[in-house]
Amino acid sequence: MIQKPLQVGIIGAGPSGCYIADALGRKLPGSHIDIFDRLPTPFGLVRGGVAPDHQGTKNIARQFERTMSKDGVRFLGNIDIGRDLSYEELKSAYDILLVTIGAMEDRRLGIPGESLEAVYGSGQFVAWYNGIPGGQNLAPKLDGKSVAIIGNGNVALDIARLLGKTSAELESSDLCAHARIALEAAPIEDIWVIGRRGPLEASFTTAELSEFGDLTRVSTRVDPSQLPQGIADEMSEAQKKLAEKNLEVLRTYAARGEQDDRSITVHFLFNAAPVEIRGESRAQELVLEKTHTKNGKTISSGETFSIPADTIISAIGYRSTSFPGLPFDSARGIVANTEGRVEPGVYAAGWCKRGPQGVVPANRADSLAVAELILQDFADHQTQGKSGGAAIDALLAKRGVRIVDFAGWQKINAAEVAAGQGRPREKLVEIEELLTAAQA
Ligand code: NAP
Repeated sequence: MIQKPLQVGIIGAGPSGCYIADALGRKLPGSHIDIFDRLPTPFGLVRGGVAPDHQGTKNIARQFERTMSKDGVRFLGNIDIGRDLSYEELKSAYDILLVTIGAMEDRRLGIPGESLEAVYGSGQFVAWYNGIPGGQNLAPKLDGKSVAIIGNGNVALDIARLLGKTSAELESSDLCAHARIALEAAPIEDIWVIGRRGPLEASFTTAELSEFGDLTRVSTRVDPSQLPQGIADEMSEAQKKLAEKNLEVLRTYAARGEQDDRSITVHFLFNAAPVEIRGESRAQELVLEKTHTKNGKTISSGETFSIPADTIISAIGYRSTSFPGLPFDSARGIVANTEGRVEPGVYAAGWCKRGPQGVVPANRADSLAVAELILQDFADHQTQGKSGGAAIDALLAKRGVRIVDFAGWQKINAAEVAAGQGRPREKLVEIEELLTAAQA
């Protein structure tokens, strides 16, 4: 039985950090929990990753706000670990240190032409339209008719859907003003969603795939010959269920044919692996290799073809970003850990622990499992008498860091909601304007 309050530090105020703060707050009553974030705003992926037209998914933020308002829990925003505080300083201050930093960096395609202009990673592109400070100034080139999106996950679908929606369809979203203006002016006619494996292996989910059938200016195109007759036996039951439901939707898209009254066609292209991006200084053409899939594996054919692509967005997953001192598995792009244990007193949870897989609620189960580990490890341990927030506050004050606390976030929130004028909110996207709003 733990007698004394433990000092807990959490790096990253996204879903995993909030879920674990909630779990530890309940299981270790009286403990002091500080949740740090490099941004002045909390909620990580919920604010900066979830698609702006999926407002229902963002409702979870209300639960996270309740966690942050509890006695003993503090939000400390605008603190960059590595710049404002070091990992070593945090380890010295807290009995338990959680690393829940998510995965922010784009994986690279590793093909020639990837560095041309008008080629973006989905992380960059999403940060732009969701107004993550530092990412809002991307100004992606959306000046051509054809956009190719590489990847068959939900992020690829989020991007394709936002490009396909009309301004009216985006009215109830919190898409940032700069992105609304750019998308409205974009002369896009063709959007390609490209999977290197077949439709059965796509990782996007059926609800997200079905949404394309409801978009007013979008016609969907699927080559029926790319759709298999049946589901492979070697798939797990869960994979089969997903594949069957996706196949059903793709069949309706294939049967629908071209809808002449629609200005944008979304092409679902399977078994096409990217091999090169061509263009003079900027992307113009995407070269793909035909593949087929055997036992879930991609088999190359050596036969290539190309599609016109004025803008290319790779939505092929993410890596976590390390900071000095943090044990890191560079090959996998995650925090080096064994089931969440990083080193004595330090734990990881969420995407930085297991890679960028799973929807927001999946991180709850992961955070609860790590909280259980912590309870095991600290079952017969007293606090080592670490100073926790007091030492950290002194360091931050000495360094002149402008902290945004939970009350500051509430002021930012109120300012953004007021600026939304009927829309859910108009986000503040510059650090300085966020800090000003927090101090209003
Ligand atoms: P994902 O689901 O892992 O999809 C990544 C895609 O990229 C896969 O189709 C993968 O193909 C492909 N890929 C990887 N490397 C490639 C390469 N070199 N060339 C071509 N294709 C490549 O990841 P995600 O879309 O980034 O999503 C991350 C997580 O967030 C997922 O769990 C997702 O469900 C979740 N999410 C959920 C929602 C929602 O619920 N609405 C929205 C956004 C994200 P292979 O399968 O062949 O490797």
